[in-house]
Amino acid sequence: MTTHKAHCLILPFPGQGHINPMLQFSKRLQSKRVKITIALTKSFLKNMKELPTSMSIEAISDGYDDGGRDQAGSFVAYITRFKEIGSDTLSQLIEKLAKSGCHVNCIVYDPFLPWPVEVAKQFGLISAAFFTQNCVVDNIYYHVHKGVIKLPPTQNDEKIIIPGLSCTIESSDVPSFVINPEGERILEMLVNQFSNLDKVDWVLINSFYELEKEIIDWMSKIYPIKTIGPTIPSMYLDKRLHDDKEYGLSMFKPMTNECLNWLNHQPISSVVYVSFGSIAKLENEQMEELAWGLKNSNKSFLWVVRSTEEPKLPKNFIEELTSEKGLVVSWCPQLQVLEHESIGCFLTHCGWNSTLEAISLGVPMVAMPQWTDQPTNAKLVNDVWEIGVRAKQDEKGIVRREVIEECIKLVMEEDKGKLIRENAKKWKEIARNVVDERGSSDKNIEEFVSKLVTIS
Ligand code: UDP
Repeated sequence: MTTHKAHCLILPFPGQGHINPMLQFSKRLQSKRVKITIALTKSFLKNMKELPTSMSIEAISDGYDDGGRDQAGSFVAYITRFKEIGSDTLSQLIEKLAKSGCHVNCIVYDPFLPWPVEVAKQFGLISAAFFTQNCVVDNIYYHVHKGVIKLPPTQNDEKIIIPGLSCTIESSDVPSFVINPEGERILEMLVNQFSNLDKVDWVLINSFYELEKEIIDWMSKIYPIKTIGPTIPSMYLDKRLHDDKEYGLSMFKPMTNECLNWLNHQPISSVVYVSFGSIAKLENEQMEELAWGLKNSNKSFLWVVRSTEEPKLPKNFIEELTSEKGLVVSWCPQLQVLEHESIGCFLTHCGWNSTLEAISLGVPMVAMPQWTDQPTNAKLVNDVWEIGVRAKQDEKGIVRREVIEECIKLVMEEDKGKLIRENAKKWKEIARNVVDERGSSDKNIEEFVSKLVTIS
C-alpha cells in the first residue's frame, strides 16, 4: 500500500482545456507519492466520458448542477454564482475529507476562480494557483491589472512595451479580450486572477522555464512561480509514468482508427494537420479560403472540422476530396496525430494546449490565431521561438488562400523553413528533458512536493 507524503485537493475550472493540464500535473504529483483528490462540478462530471481511476474524484456544486455554464446563460453569471456558493461547498468537502481521515494539506486551484485561496487560508492549508496559460500571457493580464497597459490601446499599430519582455508587441499580438471592448467582462475576470495572488504559497504555470526564461525570471521577482509543464502524458515525453492515460475532450468522440489508418499510408512529413480546437468558429468566408488554400498547396491534409462547422465548407468539398488528397474528420486523437511521422506541419489556431503539444512533439506550425490568448501564442511561435509562421490577415481579418498556401509551403518545403523545422526539433528535445529526472519542471515539482511535506 502506498504511504502518501501529502494530500492535494485539485480544483480545476470546469472546461476541458483547463482540466486536462491539471490532471496531467496531478499524475506527476501522484508519481511522487502525493495523494490527489479532484473536485469537479456536478454538471461537468455528468458529461465526462472517462474519469481517472487512480485518483479520487469528488463532486462539488457550482450552483448549476444540471447544465453548468450553459444553464448559467453567460460566462460572467456562471463565475459569479460559482463564487457565491463555491466557498461553502469547497469547505464542506474539506471537512468531509478530514472526517474520513483524509486531511487535505494543499489546494491547487485555477485562478479563473480566485476565491479558493481564501478557503485555504481559513483552514490553514497551503494554496497554489495553477495558471493554464503561458507566462507571457499571464504577464500581459498582470500588467492590465496593474494599469500599466492602458486600454484600449489608442492606435492599432501602437507598440506596447511589456516589462520583462524584450520584444515589443503590437495590438494584434495581445489577447483579444484586452483589445475588444466586448470582452470587457471576461477581461475583468482574467485580471481578477491577480486580485489575491499575493496570498498564495505557489504560482504554478503550465509552461517550462527554457521556453520563457526572461519573463519567468521577471515574474518570479513578484510571485513564487514554478513552471511545471508541458502537461501532456508522459508517454509522449519522458515515458516515466505508468498509469499514463489521456483524458480526451468529453464532448467529442475521436475518429481514431480512420485518422491513423489514413496517416499510415502517407509519406513521412508530407501531411498538413489542421485544427482550430474545440471552441473557435470560423467565418464562412475564412472557411472557404482555408479550403482552397489547402487544396492549392498540393499537400495532403488531415482537417478537423467539428460538426457545427461543417456546413461552412464549400459545396461538395468532402464529396470531391480524394483519399490521396485529404481527410476531413470531426475530431481526432490529436497527440497521436501530432506524433505520427507523416505529419509535416500543424495549421493551428494556437490554443495554448495545441501549441504546447506541437512544441512537445516537434511539429512546426502555421499559426492562424482567432481570439483570446491565441494571437500572443502565435507571436511567440513566429518571432520568439521561430517554430512556425503566422499567416497574415487582410484588412477584413481574413487569411486569404494564397497566404495559406504560401505559409504551408514555407514551413514544409522551402529553404526559408529549414530553420523553423530545425528549431521545432530542438524544442521537442528540450520539452522531453524538462520533465525527465532533474529537468527544470521535474525539479520544480520535486521542490513543490518537498515544501508540501515540510510545511504540512
Ligand atoms: N484536440 C483533440 N482532437 C482534435 C482537436 C483538438 O484532442 O481533433 C485537443 C487538443 O489536443 C488540445 C485541445 O483539444 O488538447 C484543444 O485545446 P486548445 O487549448 O489548443 O484549444 P481550445 O479548444 O481551448 O480552443
